[in-house]
Amino acid sequence: MELRRLLIILSVSFVVGWIVDQVPGAMVIGLLCYFGYHYRQIKRLINWIERPSEELPDLTGIWEGMAYRVYRIRRRSESRKKRISKLLKRYQMSTQSLPDATILLNQDDEIVWFNLSATRLLNLQHKDIGQPLARLIRDPGFVVFLKSAELDSAPLEIVSPIDDEEYLDIRVVPSAFDQRLVLVRDITHIHRLSEMRRDFVANVSHELRTPLTVVIGYLETIDDLDDLTAEELHQLVTKMNSPARRMKSLVEDLLQLSQLDTGVIPPAAQCPRIEVPGLLKSITREAAQISAGKHQIEVEIDPTVKLLGIEKEIYSVFSNLVNNAVRYAPEGGIIRVVWKGTPEGALFQVIDNGVGIAPEYIDRLTERFFRIDVGRSRDSGGTGLGLSIVKQVLRRHDSELLIESELGKGSTFSCLFLNERVART
Ligand code: ADP
Repeated sequence: MELRRLLIILSVSFVVGWIVDQVPGAMVIGLLCYFGYHYRQIKRLINWIERPSEELPDLTGIWEGMAYRVYRIRRRSESRKKRISKLLKRYQMSTQSLPDATILLNQDDEIVWFNLSATRLLNLQHKDIGQPLARLIRDPGFVVFLKSAELDSAPLEIVSPIDDEEYLDIRVVPSAFDQRLVLVRDITHIHRLSEMRRDFVANVSHELRTPLTVVIGYLETIDDLDDLTAEELHQLVTKMNSPARRMKSLVEDLLQLSQLDTGVIPPAAQCPRIEVPGLLKSITREAAQISAGKHQIEVEIDPTVKLLGIEKEIYSVFSNLVNNAVRYAPEGGIIRVVWKGTPEGALFQVIDNGVGIAPEYIDRLTERFFRIDVGRSRDSGGTGLGLSIVKQVLRRHDSELLIESELGKGSTFSCLFLNERVART
């Protein structure tokens, strides 16, 4: 097509040149016209490429074909660009909502981008983009870690730069174009759990060590004394009885707690019916024996209200609360045990007029090994685990422990069981 155009121009120039007897001149003019035409076409094409518009430029011949090809390539790259930016937006939206902070750093460890959680966990603001991250997280360990971190490096644990009570776990992973991603996770709860576990082991060891030392002491005495009379031996063995019993109840309480922590309770409908009135009669009888007449125990029991649950567990809740009242009420104190139906379900209450509890301790009473007066608790055979067991059992029976108390006046411990856990006869 283009060759034909050139041949026509050359032929016309030749014929015109032959007529006017100026063939070379006419041929040169013809070629100049031909190149001029191409020059204009190229210019239009370049203008259109530089300032693209939807419409194709006014071109002919090979330039029209070329413009069309450029147009198609451009359309294809635009739709690819749209697809990529849509993907990028979707990726950014999903990383925005991640609970972990994600921060993109350039080769100089300056912030390029970060998600919403980075604002929450590290207080990063828009103005921090372009700042070196090490200037914002000033922990010396972090500065060294950021320099040396590799893909398989163990994560770094630091105290949060915005809250001393929070702990963060930081990882650094490589990203595209020599950039790096810093991933920050809030591990405060894991940290607390491991602290609790450490404290728990320390508490158990401490609680066992004292009675164990006492027993070992008596055993050594027996071993050292050659001429021990039967009477003396009997006295020493009797003295060993109390620390040995303390260790036994501690181990029993620990075992019960570990079973409560791991075991699963069946739903209310599949639980057997507990004859609470009978259960409470035997608990208050035992409490009266422990009290040995030092307290007045009043009982208000609705014989028609029963409970759906695990009897052994409910027994330990009720007996713990009643026995505590006996242990923490002074001689002559009045203890009232109530079991009755309410519109919401059933209510169990132990009310005493004993030593009472200061308000700042009330929330801590169900913590393992928490005791206001350790000496008094131990002297009366307490392990400091009773109310933790109560809390766990009630949680498994969809209930919770409510404690109201006034120092020096007495306390009320209540548990409300929902209607679905209650059976009435
Ligand atoms: P303990 O074996 O020490 O009694 P608990 O878990 O049963 O352990 O109770 C925790 C602490 O709560 C007790 O040490 C005591 O200080 C306090 N407490 C429990 N019941 C009462 C009560 N009825 N009156 C006053 N203080 C109580």
